Amino acid sequence: MGLETESWPLPRAAYIHVPFCRHRCGYCNFSVVADRDDLIERYLNAIKKELDALDNPVIDTLFVGGGTPTHFDADQLRRFLCLLQQHLQFSAGCEWSMEANPEDITREKVAMLDDHGVNRISLGVQSFNVDKLKLLERGHSPANAIDAVQTVADAIDNVSIDLIFAAPGETLEHWQSDLEVARELPLEHISTYALTFEKGTAFWSRRARGDLSSASESSEIDMYQAAREGLHNAGFQHYEISSFAREGSQCRHNLAYWKGLGWYAVGPGAARFVDGSREVNHRSTTTYLRRVELGESPTAERVAITHEQYARERAAFGVRMIDGIDIDVIESESGIPVAEICRDAIVQSVGEGLLLKPSPSWIKLSERGILFADTVASRLLG
Ligand code: SF4
Repeated sequence: MGLETESWPLPRAAYIHVPFCRHRCGYCNFSVVADRDDLIERYLNAIKKELDALDNPVIDTLFVGGGTPTHFDADQLRRFLCLLQQHLQFSAGCEWSMEANPEDITREKVAMLDDHGVNRISLGVQSFNVDKLKLLERGHSPANAIDAVQTVADAIDNVSIDLIFAAPGETLEHWQSDLEVARELPLEHISTYALTFEKGTAFWSRRARGDLSSASESSEIDMYQAAREGLHNAGFQHYEISSFAREGSQCRHNLAYWKGLGWYAVGPGAARFVDGSREVNHRSTTTYLRRVELGESPTAERVAITHEQYARERAAFGVRMIDGIDIDVIESESGIPVAEICRDAIVQSVGEGLLLKPSPSWIKLSERGILFADTVASRLLG
């Protein structure tokens, strides 16, 4: 029975956005405030109000992202973690991820995270190369990053790092040495992203002035393929376009996004999908705080999606997973004839060698399609 006769799936995932950072990195386009620690107490009060309204949902995954969640001082961090514990019911084996910056990692902070139930840490390492870290305006050194991974892994064994490639001036050899350092560390998961120049960032303006230049498409592809090959050889499974994991360490929270399972979200700029509605909170931290303090909704945008959009989105996001997706499952869970409405997109993509059909209802990206995942996804979206 599909969604035509049923309600939307009840979310079992939650995302909390913490907007605080010491400094805004030149490439960053997230909802962030730099050097505004004076707003932290107001933020803690505001998310308490948002969390109060959720009515203690049971969750299987919680992801605390930013910004820099570990930017809080010890007392603020303890109160923040307690707020989450008080307002969410963690199912047995709940995956609780938290993003962290290497320069904030101390044994005391990690022990506090561990004591409160955080069982997965995602470190914003980005590189182990001193010049690349400087260019990216990161506050840590390669040695800080390595120490941070080790310190976290001593207490919390599920450690992930983010790495950026295709930075201006970066060579394939530089990138390979980043991968080699990563391979030697006690990591369960690695996410890799090509540097993007987003409108509104300092990097965007610097590129417009000719001060920075993007990597060529061919060197970006070479670096991506080097990551796929190098991490595969090191025992990591490539399970989503940008994500690599050791056996059993796939990020369950992100899988919930890609499978369209619904999630709650709290904090400035946080995006949620609940009861068929996609909502995004105000990106500006000060606007978000003002609205919540006045008893107004922090939501800036709300779009009620149709069941057809939902089915198409599940196909488009789902195809990012390297194993692919079963169209019949989406069809039976959405009540929408996906094979029919996406027929042209699938036929064209199969014809161009971007998609494979290992069985009549199963679609997955081909080796070439992995490089053109966005093209396939946008066709599936219609
Ligand atoms: S630390 Fe992360 S979230 Fe903060 S400004 Fe830098 S890239 Fe953005």
